[in-house]
Amino acid sequence: MPTIGVLALQGDVREHVAMLEAAGAGATPVRRPAELEAVDGLVIPGGESTTMWKLAEIFEMLEPLRLRIKDGLPVYGSCAGMIMLADRIEDGVDGQQTIGGLDMVVRRNAFGRQVDSFEADLTFDGGPVHAVFIRAPWVESVGPEVEVLATAPPGDRIVAVRQGPLLATSFHPELTGDTRVHRYFVNMVNTVRDH
Ligand code: GLN
Repeated sequence: MPTIGVLALQGDVREHVAMLEAAGAGATPVRRPAELEAVDGLVIPGGESTTMWKLAEIFEMLEPLRLRIKDGLPVYGSCAGMIMLADRIEDGVDGQQTIGGLDMVVRRNAFGRQVDSFEADLTFDGGPVHAVFIRAPWVESVGPEVEVLATAPPGDRIVAVRQGPLLATSFHPELTGDTRVHRYFVNMVNTVRDH
């Protein structure tokens, strides 16, 4: 059974721990570089990306996170976590940094201008998923290596992507009780572990 960390600087950590356990993985909060070293995969939860970035700097986690991603660690970012995985962001605060790794441009609070929060039934990896969006970002554009896994109204916005061992969704599957996205990620982690 893989052990998957949940980055526990800020955000809805407990919900992800419960979903990872329901999806057949061991789950543990990660706050320090030594804890990051010990996991087979990592979830970056939803929350607030500017706060998460500042806390990652204070806890001296930004560089360790970048290094482990460069080494091929499987990482799943949801909402603010998606922003943290983006190589480039739009509508960030001044100087806002991300961890990066996923070759995409993500627009913060993109749906927020039209509607703060909403729910939608989407297709993810060939199956239905009920998606909860909360001041969610969308993916503005992706590089050639990035696979689009789901889109949402209005206008078929890109809301789930994958590039190798990195997965990101604009929405919060941890709030629905539907383990499809977490099971997909646990499979990704198992595949990397078995090689
Ligand atoms: N709007 C938040 C941000 O910019 C993300 C919201 C969320 O994670 N639910 O970080």
